[in-house]
Amino acid sequence: MSYLFASFEGWKQYCEANNVELFEAVIEYETVQKGKQEQAIWDGLQHAYGVMKDAVETGLNEEMTSRSGMINNGAKKVYKHPVVVLSPEFQRLISRALAAKEVNSCMGRVVAAPTAGASGILPGTLYTLQEIHELSDRKILEGLLVGAGIALIIEEKASLAGAVGGCQAETGSAAAMAAGAMVYCLGGSIDQIFNAVAITIQCMLGLVCDPVAGLVEVPCVVRNASAAAIANSSAQIALADVSAVIPVDECVEAMGEIGSSMESKYKETAMGGLAATLTGQNISKRVLIQDIEMLPDEDVE
Ligand code: SF4
Repeated sequence: MSYLFASFEGWKQYCEANNVELFEAVIEYETVQKGKQEQAIWDGLQHAYGVMKDAVETGLNEEMTSRSGMINNGAKKVYKHPVVVLSPEFQRLISRALAAKEVNSCMGRVVAAPTAGASGILPGTLYTLQEIHELSDRKILEGLLVGAGIALIIEEKASLAGAVGGCQAETGSAAAMAAGAMVYCLGGSIDQIFNAVAITIQCMLGLVCDPVAGLVEVPCVVRNASAAAIANSSAQIALADVSAVIPVDECVEAMGEIGSSMESKYKETAMGGLAATLTGQNISKRVLIQDIEMLPDEDVE
């Protein structure tokens, strides 16, 4: 099975030839190639989903101010705001994605799916999807396995790390995982699931990693919300059988090609983009001074 997660086409062919669902192939990969027990995988997924939901609740109910001050209870403000832009469900989606990511920026516990920088996207999308469609936990866990398979292939063909491929690799991959998982949970076919991944990647291509002061706060937190929204729009488009035209494997290859030609100042070095703006530089200096002031006297001398 070692070739299975090298491409989406290979994953699909394997499932069709063996008459298994996408998530079952991931279980097989974990048990046969990684030597895990199937029950331990389900237990781990249930635990991870619990941590994701806890992060959402923590972000919406507890004090969320980061040490830099750049993150300051934004999720709660969005959740409670009386003006609803689109629908109450959309408002909850956005605030939940923000909430879980704020917990990460405030050093709380999250699931790095696939990275801590993108840790609000799967919780925001899946929590909201489960609520709207009254899905069982089991269905969501199967969706998480589909998301894991998607991440395995992106890691193989491109990257999941902002330091390697820019923010498209982090929030873009998480959004692709979420879109695929959502289409799976709503009964979509393999082609529709992979189409959702392709459409999501097309929407996230080229996004640079430019965290202000090198902290995973700005623009990371708001990008989790926008990526959650894109995952939803892609799922809606894919379920209607609107084609991405460019096959999903080629979309991921494009992500890898863009990532490798991206300048290093856009790869988590905090030297370009928003990090290099006047305000970004001023915040960076203030954070540095704050850090020096917190050092014990003997470390400063
Ligand atoms: S900007 Fe960089 S650090 Fe922030 S979420 Fe994107 S990839 Fe991660």
